[in-house]
Parts: sequence; structure tokens; C-alpha cells
Amino acid sequence: MSQRPASRILAEVRRDGALQPFGLSRVINAAGTLSRLGGAGVAPEVAGAMAEVARLSVDMWRLQAAASSRITEASGAEAGLVTTGASAALTLAAAAVLAGLDPARMQSLPDTGERPNEFIVPRTHRTGYGRAIALAGGRLIDVGVDDVGTGAGIRGLEAWEVEAAVGARTAGLFASASAHTEADLAVLVEVSRRTRLPLIVDAAAQLPPRENLKRYLAMGATLVAFSGGKAIGGPPGTGILAGRRDLVASACLQMLDLDVAPERFAAPEAFFPDGPPKALPRHGLGRGFKAGKEQVVGLLVALDRFLAQDPAAAVQAAQARLQRISIALAGARGITVRREPPTHPERAPRLVVACDRHHVAADTLIRRLAEMTPAVHLGEARARDGLLTIDLACVDPVDDEQLAWSIRAAAGE
Ligand SMILES: *Cc1c(COP(=O)(O)O)cnc(C)c1O
Repeated sequence: MSQRPASRILAEVRRDGALQPFGLSRVINAAGTLSRLGGAGVAPEVAGAMAEVARLSVDMWRLQAAASSRITEASGAEAGLVTTGASAALTLAAAAVLAGLDPARMQSLPDTGERPNEFIVPRTHRTGYGRAIALAGGRLIDVGVDDVGTGAGIRGLEAWEVEAAVGARTAGLFASASAHTEADLAVLVEVSRRTRLPLIVDAAAQLPPRENLKRYLAMGATLVAFSGGKAIGGPPGTGILAGRRDLVASACLQMLDLDVAPERFAAPEAFFPDGPPKALPRHGLGRGFKAGKEQVVGLLVALDRFLAQDPAAAVQAAQARLQRISIALAGARGITVRREPPTHPERAPRLVVACDRHHVAADTLIRRLAEMTPAVHLGEARARDGLLTIDLACVDPVDDEQLAWSIRAAAGE
């Protein structure tokens, strides 16, 4: 592998400042907004707002009520809540559906006793995040088949097969929104309407387009979860739960600190338009993943920025950067690079790095990049097919050149 110029190493040392006391150096993350890589660096405006509020004390119920009105404007929901991530939002959503506003039920979760606790989920919507529902005491009941995905047939999810699974123990319906499951959502909404079972939608990564903040709820979803640390650009440990007011209020009651004299509990109207709840639960299921004031404010500032941003300009900027990177990678030994069209016109395109197996296996390239300083990470979802992806969402533009240089070096030039 060739040597890096000394000036570049010096620049690295300076930029790693905050990590140096821990003996760490930063990572060039071209894999997208991955939690295990700390998500994206937030914009200075977001970091600044977080630092400001970190020095203050604030009534968290009022702060969440203010967050609710911002989320309501952005999503069309009756109410919203800032959580510690989409996964936490799903757990709170399930807890809300399972307990409603009954403090005794909240108190017993995740034990649901003899009460309904089943969430029906199409097999094609199953992800590792189903555990978030189970954590609240929900039990996932799989329905349907994956004929389309496996190429075995042409029929997708149908309402009758969802309805056949509805029974005395059914608490709700669960869906995971993605390009693959788009057609199923209408079916689930229809079943939700007919059965009056609440429908929880995991839309963690469905932004942009920003219209999706509204779309699932407008279609008829009851509650929807988004990640704050993905395209919204908020702190990595943030998410949004939005939807039906009584359920969002229940989620609030199960997350926020309730060590308060019940007679002095000032229930915000945003969650309790008909006055405060008759009795207050003690600390709820979500108490262990409470959102801090820094997270709530960081997310709200990021959400404002996300809504104000011109998606076409953002896509264009990413395109120009990818163009330069692909020129810098042209002719590198053992790899070929091509552009991958985005799944939506408002999403930034990515580059695909195809590894020539006879020269460098994708696994080898991944390992070599991880061993560099700074370590470089590419998207690995298709590594088994010899394909790695370059996504610039979390790459600082000043690192673009280094990114291309590192890939060339790791490929063996
Ligand atoms: C990222 C993701 C989550 C988890 O989001 P967090 O905000 O990190 O908790 C859940 N579901 C899907 C489909 C995701 O892509």
C-alpha cells in the first residue's frame, strides 16, 4: 500500500481532536447513517442548540408538548413525541396500544396477563426491529407468504389472510414501510379500518421524501415511527413517534419521569385536551430510554432544517461529489465503479464498487479499509455479491478525496 502524504496525516491529527483523549480516531463513514458508526455528524446549528440547552433546566413535559406541535405541523398527526430512536418509538407505540391510558396496565407491562397482546405482521415486513414490539410485551404473529420476493409467484399480501389471523388476542397490526412493502400498506390500512385495530408503521428510514412524514398517517396508519438520526439529520439517539393523540399521550406517560405529586401534575393540552388523566402510572416501560432535553432540541432544530432544505439541491450536490469520486477511482485495479440510481428522485444516488474476485474479494477490501487510519466503511449489504456501496450521507466533503484515495490503496494499487 502506498504511503500517505505527511500533510494529510497532520490534518487528520487536528481533526480527530475530540476523540484523542480516548485514543480513538474518527471514521470515514460511507456506509450511510449507521448507528454502530455513531450516525452522521450533526450540523453546527444542531450541535449549537444542543450545547445551549445542555446548560439549562427545562420542564420536560412542556418541552415534549412543544415538540408535539412541531411534529404535528410536519406530519399532520394529532400529536407527536421525540423518542430515543425509531426503535424506542416502536416499543412505546406497542406499549401505548397494549395499555391505552390505563395506569395499572402500564404498570404491568411487559406482562400483558390475559389481555390481547398479539400484533399481526406480514412475513415480508419482518425485520430485526420486530424485537422493539416484543420488548413492550407484544407478540408478533406472522401472516402471508413472500411469493413476489422469492420469485415463486405474483400475488402479494391480501386482506383475507390478515383478517384470518385476527382473534380475541389481537392487539394491533404492525408494518414496516419500504419500497418492497408499499403495496401491502393499503391492505393493512383497510384491515385496520374494518377491524378498528391500530396499525403501527415502522417508517424509520423512509425519508426523504419529506412528504412521507405525512403520507403513512394520511393513508390511515395509527402510529408511525421515524428515525431522527437518519435523513432528518438529528442526533443519532433520536426518533419520532407520531399519530393518534391518546396513544401518543400514553407513550409519553410511559417514558417521562412521573415522580410527581399527582395533584400538581400539569398535563399539557397537546396530549390531554380533556384534562389530566385520572390517575398517574409510576415510572413506565420507557423510563429506561428517556429522551434528554439535548436530544429533543437537537431533533427539532434538525427537523426544521430538513423541512427547509431544497431536496433537488441536496441531490445535485451529492451527484457532483460522487462524480468526482468516481473519476478519482477510475482505472483502480480490481474494482469497477458505477452509479446506482436512487429509489426516489429526492434521495441522493450512490456509487457501487464492484470487486473483481480474482483480484480483491469484497471481504478483503472491507478489512483493509477498516484497518486504515482513519478507518473507512462502505455499505456492505451486498458484499456477498462482491458489491460495496458509497453513500455520502455521513461523509464530510473534505474527506471525499481521502475516501477515494483509501479505496484505491485498499484495492491494491
Ligand atoms: C434504522 C431503522 C430502525 C431503528 O432506528 P433508530 O432510530 O436507530 O432506533 C428501525 N427500523 C428500520 C426499518 C430502520 O431502518
